[in-house]
Amino acid sequence: MYDPKSKRAEDFINHEEIMETLDYAQKNKHNRELIDEILNKARLRKGLSHREAAVLLDCDLEDKNQEIYALAEQIKKDFYGNRIVMFAPLYLSNYCVNGCVYCPYHAKNKHIARKKLTQEEIRREVIALQDMGHKRLALETGEDPVNNPIEYVLESIKTIYSIKHKNGAIRRVNVNIAATTVENYRKLKEAGIGTYILFQETYHKESYLKLHPTGPKHDYDYHTEAMDRAMEGGIDDVGCGVLFGLELYRYEFAGLLMHAEHLEAVFGVGPHTISVPRIKRADDIDPGVFDNGIDDDTFAKIVACIRIAVPYTGMILSTRETKACRERVLHLGISQISGGSRTSVGGYDQPERSDECSEQFDVSDQRTLDEVVNWLMGMGYIPSFCTACYREGRTGDRFMSLCKSGQIQNCCLPNALMTLKEYLMDYASPDTKAKGLAMIEQEIENIPKEKVRQIVREHLAEIERGNRDFRF
Ligand code: SAM
Repeated sequence: MYDPKSKRAEDFINHEEIMETLDYAQKNKHNRELIDEILNKARLRKGLSHREAAVLLDCDLEDKNQEIYALAEQIKKDFYGNRIVMFAPLYLSNYCVNGCVYCPYHAKNKHIARKKLTQEEIRREVIALQDMGHKRLALETGEDPVNNPIEYVLESIKTIYSIKHKNGAIRRVNVNIAATTVENYRKLKEAGIGTYILFQETYHKESYLKLHPTGPKHDYDYHTEAMDRAMEGGIDDVGCGVLFGLELYRYEFAGLLMHAEHLEAVFGVGPHTISVPRIKRADDIDPGVFDNGIDDDTFAKIVACIRIAVPYTGMILSTRETKACRERVLHLGISQISGGSRTSVGGYDQPERSDECSEQFDVSDQRTLDEVVNWLMGMGYIPSFCTACYREGRTGDRFMSLCKSGQIQNCCLPNALMTLKEYLMDYASPDTKAKGLAMIEQEIENIPKEKVRQIVREHLAEIERGNRDFRF
C-alpha cells in the first residue's frame, strides 16, 4: 500500500499509486479549474504533491502551459536568483560488475578500455581541473567491490582535498557511486563529501529488473532504499535523478516526486538536488533502441514542473545536453551545470587516444569551462564556484531553512560574486575577465544589506591582493 513514511521501496514508490496518478493527470489535463487551483497553490512556493505536479505535466492547454513556464521562471529567480553553480565530473574507474543495458561500462563489454586511476593519476587530474578553475567535483565510479572498494574511494577523496596547486583547491567533492551500506555511507560522510548522488535510472520496477539484468544493481529495493541508508549514515544532502529515455517520462516524473516526498516525510528534508540526465550514445550503446526518448519540448516541460513542485531542490544539468538545449532550460529551473567535462577515466590531464576510449557517454557540450562561463555571463547569469554552505555546516534542513528564509540574497549572491572574482583573477581569458568584472560591479548593488555589500567590497579587494577563500 502507498505510504510515503514506509521504509520499503514498494510502499513509498508504489506502482498502483503511480498508475492512479497518471490516470488522474490524464483525466484532468484540460480541467481549467483544477489547473488554476494547482497553479495558485504553486504560487505559494511551498511545492506540490506528485499528483498535482503530474496534472501540470500533462496539461496541454497552451495558455496554462505559458503560465507554468512563467511560474517556473519566477520561482527559479526567487530562490536561486541568476546564479548558476559550476562543477565537473571526475571519473575514477570504469571497472564495473553490473549489466546495465544502457551503460557502456557493463561487465560484458570486453572492448572498452578499462581504467582505474592511481592516486598519482588522480593528483594530475585534479591539478588539471584546478587549472581550469573548478572548485567542485562529482566523483564517478563503476560498481566493482574488488577494483573500486570503498577504501579506494575514500583514499581518492583524501587525495583530492589535499591538493593545493597554485591558488587552486577542490572545496567540495560530491560522490556518485553505487548503492552501498549505512556503514559505508558513514565513512563517506566522515571523509567530508558534499552530496551523495545516485540516479534511480527508472522507478518502474519491472523495467528496472530488465534494464539491470545482472550484478548487485539488479536489486531494485536495495537501490531504491539507498537514500534512506545514506541519510541514516549521516549524509543529509542526497541527489536523486532518473535516466530519461528508459521508461515513460510521466511514470518517472511521478516516481521522482514520490521519492522526494518520502525523504521529506521520513527525514524532514527532501533531496538536495535532482538531476535530469537523458540517455546518450556511448561505446556500444545506441540510444535509439530505447523507446522512451523525450524531445526537447517535453524535457523543458519536465524541468519547469520539477522546479514548481520542489522549489527548494537544486536542479542539475550535465554536458549530455547541447548548448542550445541548455540555453532553453536554464531559466526554467536549473541551478547547477557542469562545464569542460570529460566522461573518460583520466581525460583531463591527457586527452585519450581514440584506440583506448573509456568514455561513459558522448558529451554534447564540448566547450571549455572558460567558454561556458563567458556564455553564461552573456545571458545575464552569474557563474558561481561557491561551496560555502556545506563548509559552513549548512546541509540538510539547515540549507533548506536558509532557502526558505529568503536570506539567500545576502549569502549566496556575495559568495557567488567572490568565487567568480577568484575565477576571473586566476583562470579567465581576457574577454571573460572583462565581462566578469563588469558583472560583479553591477551585481554588488543587488545585495540587499548595506553592511554585507561593504564586507563584499573589502573581500573583493583582498582577492585582488592575492588572498582567497572568503565566504558567508
Ligand atoms: N555506477 C554508479 C551506479 O551504479 O549508480 C553510477 C555512476 S554512473 C558513472 C553515472 C550515471 O550515468 C548513471 O547513474 C546513469 O544514469 C548515467 N548513464 C549511464 N549510461 C549512460 C548513457 N549511455 N547516457 C547517459 N547517461 C548514462
